[in-house]
Amino acid sequence: MTDEICSKCDADAVIHREYEGRSLCKKHFSIDVNKQVKKTIREGDLVESGDTIAVGLSGGKDSAVLLEQLVKVFGERPDIEIVGVSVHEGIDEYRDESITAAQELCDELGVALHVGRYSDYYDLKMDDVADAGERGNCTYCGIFRRDLLNKLAREVDADKIAIGHNLDDEAQAIMMNYIKGDTRRLARVGSRTDQVSHDKFVPRIKPLLDVREKEIALYSRLHDLGVIDRCPHVQEGTLRPMVKSFLNKLESQMPGIKHSIVSQGHDLSSLVEENFEFEDSEIKECERCGEPCSGGLCRKCQLLDDIKKAADESEEHDFEK
Ligand SMILES: [Zn+2]
Ligand SMILES: [Zn+2]
Repeated sequence: MTDEICSKCDADAVIHREYEGRSLCKKHFSIDVNKQVKKTIREGDLVESGDTIAVGLSGGKDSAVLLEQLVKVFGERPDIEIVGVSVHEGIDEYRDESITAAQELCDELGVALHVGRYSDYYDLKMDDVADAGERGNCTYCGIFRRDLLNKLAREVDADKIAIGHNLDDEAQAIMMNYIKGDTRRLARVGSRTDQVSHDKFVPRIKPLLDVREKEIALYSRLHDLGVIDRCPHVQEGTLRPMVKSFLNKLESQMPGIKHSIVSQGHDLSSLVEENFEFEDSEIKECERCGEPCSGGLCRKCQLLDDIKKAADESEEHDFEK
């Protein structure tokens, strides 16, 4: 809450937007978020008639707001179908709770939910393999989640996967690509990722791309959407938190800077795409699991091997004792 009055009516404001110098009440803020989402969908051509959209649901605030918004925009359209998809990583209490929340939200909004478990697809649970591999838990889990979300979307015959990526996520991704000099990934930012085309790869769309993380948090509080989403096995890399706090500092001094970073990143992304021919960009299929990848074993299968190796080694070690 702020002490101010809405710039559009005389109700109390719930937010003061530094970047546009106005304040909004709950009603006008909510209308504005919805307008922004519609604009992102329209300008990016994210949804077409006939689409089935799988919405990735974590039980957290971003994905809950995403589903609520998509149902608001397309719920009455007979030519567009919305299905929830959730990944259970085998992080028992945490994920059981958030999947229950996702199920409740889906029931409330009249959307079906399809859940897939790491234990069924990869024969492992993150609770059992956490801290086992050489890389951080989030690296493993992120790759498995991406792979499984894609599979689940195919299982519900989805044309697209909608993910709750927001403006802050996008600004961070762009800055991280600059810092790492990752030109190839720079070509893959934007509100839809269909640069990789392969039958088995369901394109991803980001309808919340132009909404700030803070505003999604506010919206979720005002509308009682989403539960707290903090994984007990989280091991973040060092770069992202630094970039995040740097961007927040910049934004507080220069309101609107995150938005300019994102729009510049997108302009550059199109240039990169037009001007660079990436070698070996042809998509092949993983020789073990058949999922799309750049050749040989896919990242997921490599990491599964990694985990297995670590498990065997620790067993041997136990035996020696
Ligand atoms: Zn108002
Ligand atoms: Zn594979």
